[in-house]
Amino acid sequence: MKVYSFFRGGIKFEDRFAPESVQSRLAFLPEMVVIPLASEFGSRSIPVVSTGQHIEEGMLIARGQGSGSANIHSPVPGRLVKTVKWEPAPGFLADALVIRLEGGFNKLGKPETRYEWTDLNWFELRSLISEYGVIEMEGLGRPLCDIFSKNTIAGSPLTFVVRCVFDDPWLSAEYCLCRERLEAVSEGCLITARAAGAASIMFAVSASERELGRALLEAAKQNDTSGQFTFTEVLVGSRYPQHSDYAMEIVLRRYEKGEDPIKGGVFMLSPTTAAAVYDAVALRIPVLERYVAVGGPVLKHRAVIKARIGSRLRDLFAECGGFTEKTEESSVTAVIGSPLLGRAAVTLDEPILKTSRSVFVSKVKRCAVASKKYPWLNKINKFLPVAACISCGECRSVCPVKLDPEDIYKEINYGKNGMVDSTCIGCGCCEAVCPSNLPLCTVIARTQFKGSGCAV
Ligand code: SF4
Ligand code: SF4
Repeated sequence: MKVYSFFRGGIKFEDRFAPESVQSRLAFLPEMVVIPLASEFGSRSIPVVSTGQHIEEGMLIARGQGSGSANIHSPVPGRLVKTVKWEPAPGFLADALVIRLEGGFNKLGKPETRYEWTDLNWFELRSLISEYGVIEMEGLGRPLCDIFSKNTIAGSPLTFVVRCVFDDPWLSAEYCLCRERLEAVSEGCLITARAAGAASIMFAVSASERELGRALLEAAKQNDTSGQFTFTEVLVGSRYPQHSDYAMEIVLRRYEKGEDPIKGGVFMLSPTTAAAVYDAVALRIPVLERYVAVGGPVLKHRAVIKARIGSRLRDLFAECGGFTEKTEESSVTAVIGSPLLGRAAVTLDEPILKTSRSVFVSKVKRCAVASKKYPWLNKINKFLPVAACISCGECRSVCPVKLDPEDIYKEINYGKNGMVDSTCIGCGCCEAVCPSNLPLCTVIARTQFKGSGCAV
């Protein structure tokens, strides 16, 4: 089978500090969970519980209010001890509920009750997905039903692309889940496709993982007793950032030229999201836990951990045996997401969210981005001291959308017009290879997406 990739650009992203994607490990239950009532792009959910109240595992604790916000359920049984402020970035403040563990478990770890879903129509499926708080389990974490509504165009066919692409070593949690919950992922894909009104399902699979792709495809075909979907497999090259929606679109455009054209609209989701849909519809379990890749040079061990939502970063580091000798907690910086594009955690008490697929921790200190023109950029944490551009051209050679990051960066920071309208997809390749550590992607993508809620 032909492998589809970028014409040029992208990087081979390797990181020996990322955990190996061999097998996941179940985390100990956290004594305390912290549940923010806002998504990272700002939509708020309204609490429906009060301080001191006993809460059961899986109980609804906050209700989504309209587009952008989702229902939130308690990942542990316990007591709501207080409401605190959650400030993941300067100037972004939201309430968070703190629940202390107590009482018995009645959801995860118990024998599963399976509910038949094949008789349900798209509206009933969407109601369940919304009721159980399913969002896209990465990136912005938009509620799934918002994505469905946006992509539904009456009379137009729709293709659901399942991103099984692991070119970023920090996607090892995704990879583990795909292997360990293959049936849930494949059936979740069918449910998602029906709820969205899609006519076909496409598995975009890393070229190095053909076996996994074949197993997913076969399982989905077997489970599709209605025969209503068509299935395709596309092999995707292993160059970062092929897993991103934008980059995948570039790849699929190439596929279209050589193979069948994709008819109508396309929407993309990860296997983790498909598994969450399966849990919500077939098991009636809300999103209570997720797979997280935890690693970095200062940890004794690295692991893919199945952790309850709301677990604190320090709990996950303890699961990895803690920090290496001579590493003080005060000297480390944790990054939620991969080192390329992640967000620096303000404290080690920050919680794991539904979208937190990986956590990287190191001793590299933060330093501010220097931007005279845009003071808001100075609030973004950077990790390495910057030097002057040496015009080496590395950034140009890796940009998958053929931009000149050096030129755009200089125009934004020192040019007459300042703002530049570019097609930057915020992949971070240019910044990763820049020998001067210039915050190229940070400045370009943030300037471009400022105000649009982009989580780059
Ligand atoms: S990679 Fe960095 S130093 Fe090299 S041309 Fe681009 S901005 Fe300048
Ligand atoms: S300019 Fe944008 S698209 Fe190009 S490499 Fe940098 S971050 Fe990626």
